[in-house]
Amino acid sequence: MKASENFGENVFGISVMRDKLPKDVYKSLVSTIEDGTPLDPGVASVVANAMKDWAVEKGATHFTHWFQPMTGITAEKHDSFVSPGKDGRAIMEFSGKELVMGEPDASSFPSGGVRATFEARGYTAWDPTSFAFVKDGTLYVPSAFFSYSGEVLDKKTPLLKSMKALNREALRILKLFGTDAKQVFSTVGAEQEYFLIDKKDYLRRKDLVYTGRTLFGARPPKGQEMEDHYFGAIKARVFDFMKELDEELWKLGIFAKTEHNEVAPAQHELAPLFASSNLANDQNQLIMEMMKRIADKRGLACLLHEKPFAGINGSGKHNNWSMSTDKGVNLLDPGSTPAENSRFMLFFSAVISAVDEYQDLLRLSVAGAGNDHRLGANEAPPAIVSVYVGEELEEVLSAFERDEKYAGKKRGVMKLGVDTLPDLPKDTTDRNRTSPFAFTGNKFEFRMVGSSFSLAGPNIVINTIVADVLRRFADRLEGAKDLNQAVHDLVAETIREHKRIIFNGNSYSDEWKKEAKRRGLSDLADTAEALPLFASRKSVELFERMGVMTEREVVTRTEIMLESYCKSVAIEGLTAAEMVKRDIYPAVLRYVKELCDSIAAKKLVAGAAFSAEEGLAAKLSAMTESMWEGVTRLEDALAQSKSAESAAARSEFYAGKVLPLMNELRIVVDRAETMTPKAQWPYPTYGELLFGV
Ligand code: ADP
Ligand code: MG
Repeated sequence: MKASENFGENVFGISVMRDKLPKDVYKSLVSTIEDGTPLDPGVASVVANAMKDWAVEKGATHFTHWFQPMTGITAEKHDSFVSPGKDGRAIMEFSGKELVMGEPDASSFPSGGVRATFEARGYTAWDPTSFAFVKDGTLYVPSAFFSYSGEVLDKKTPLLKSMKALNREALRILKLFGTDAKQVFSTVGAEQEYFLIDKKDYLRRKDLVYTGRTLFGARPPKGQEMEDHYFGAIKARVFDFMKELDEELWKLGIFAKTEHNEVAPAQHELAPLFASSNLANDQNQLIMEMMKRIADKRGLACLLHEKPFAGINGSGKHNNWSMSTDKGVNLLDPGSTPAENSRFMLFFSAVISAVDEYQDLLRLSVAGAGNDHRLGANEAPPAIVSVYVGEELEEVLSAFERDEKYAGKKRGVMKLGVDTLPDLPKDTTDRNRTSPFAFTGNKFEFRMVGSSFSLAGPNIVINTIVADVLRRFADRLEGAKDLNQAVHDLVAETIREHKRIIFNGNSYSDEWKKEAKRRGLSDLADTAEALPLFASRKSVELFERMGVMTEREVVTRTEIMLESYCKSVAIEGLTAAEMVKRDIYPAVLRYVKELCDSIAAKKLVAGAAFSAEEGLAAKLSAMTESMWEGVTRLEDALAQSKSAESAAARSEFYAGKVLPLMNELRIVVDRAETMTPKAQWPYPTYGELLFGV
């Protein structure tokens, strides 16, 4: 299949709208999509009908509002188009009302108690700024999800509100420069990492099935040093998988390119072309779903967990972020004229300032049980947030800050709005790979996001914090007499105040940890430490001020995320206990018995040596003892966790007590694995999972 032929064939996108809608309806809908004008209610029924006819042509019989509850994945409830016609025959119908609003049975989605106090009902509302599509004989209508009382229950709505806030404040700035732009939106291109393993092996690992990661597993002799032995049988299947995945995503209008990743065995990456944050977020949900489904169909399992294997690099989702106008101008592109440079420096320093002021929010937006195993583990960015700007830009910044001569190609003091910035390298080769938040020429790359995450959370934060700084900038600049001078001073001042967040060196190093501490940067080790700060005064005030979330929404969201963290660790603990008690312990015990039988038999033979068996049996028996003790301690802790008073206290308990007990247990189990015959080990080993041996 050629991408150009089938690209977007299952999407009710702009070109389909142009073909299928009356001109005035098309115009009205497009202006809602592109300029954010409120949707004209009269338009909905015409759009619904056109959408239905188009979907039916594609074989659809059903429609669904497709929404993103706080679980971080998507939800849907299918209804058929079929209604009774006048003469007893069935007709296909889809009304404007059905397009605009839905009422799924939503009582089982997490709401942090929001819905309980009102009505159990939840509603979905069409989001016309993302595109409807056909999949599995169903028309999917991207939707927001909220309660009867209007409280937001999903991840999409705050994302849209954060984009609105950014649009509002960025336009204020652009007006000062004189602009023809009607809208500014954030753009995201998220590189998605994942593992593919054999499905048969996957199904034999309770830990992978229940928790998404291996809770046990001795390291194979070979790790990720070399990827040459990536085994043949899988390789062909992986190739076919990627081909089908690309093709399916193209049909859904997602321009994706799958690639082998060189870092870990069995690990790969997919990078789609960037889109508006909202669309990119929807598309990423589809990408993850398609990956799992196509893998399953092809005898593979796709692992999206941040750390499926200990000792092997985990998976992230690099969030490339920028701001663009409806005229296609990237506001983080330095440009080539003094005016463009000046605008760039203003937006650029706004991001620097936002990241420094709200380090905690960025950190907690990527906190989760899975990502805790990855961040700061010498493979992914540390838990400390910092910004890489590159040497060239750093020189420019420090020249500004000191109002000194820039030592580069330009001579003299550089003046914003008058002079041109030196050419900044847009290199992709030698840029710093260890930085959590890196400027890469015309966008920032936030590298801390976990592979299983919804893009909504981190992007709600980025959009909102940048919008907040732009608001402050606009307040100050709007009254300025000499705009050039005012911008110049503001940029210099911002750099002076926030340069501590800039770090171009190796973020994985211990020196950086020390240096970051000296600079007073925040270092939140894990989810239990980071997440509660979401409900801090500073955070609540920010989200309320920017019109993104109410205090109640922030507080309930914090609860939901903490609970979800606790649930994840609890499931891991229970799974670990079950694996040991029912599979691993009995297996090792059986082998010890075999050894003892052999010793007993040999004792009857004069001169037969059995010291090896004796030694091994003694070691393994000691291990089974300590395994059993370990499981008992773990189960006690899991029972005790229930008595914690709050979600925050419970998550501290899981992080501080339960996880360390799981780690202790793992050490014994993994050691026992290396001494037990492979045929008797109850689970596929790391060697089998990663290398097929
Ligand atoms: P790499 O060198 O890391 O492979 P690219 O520069 O090709 O990177 O892009 C990586 C990702 O960044 C892609 O998903 C791409 O679409 C996205 N990207 C490029 N420009 C922007 C932008 N202006 N805003 C958001 N994402 C972008
Ligand atoms: Mg990248």
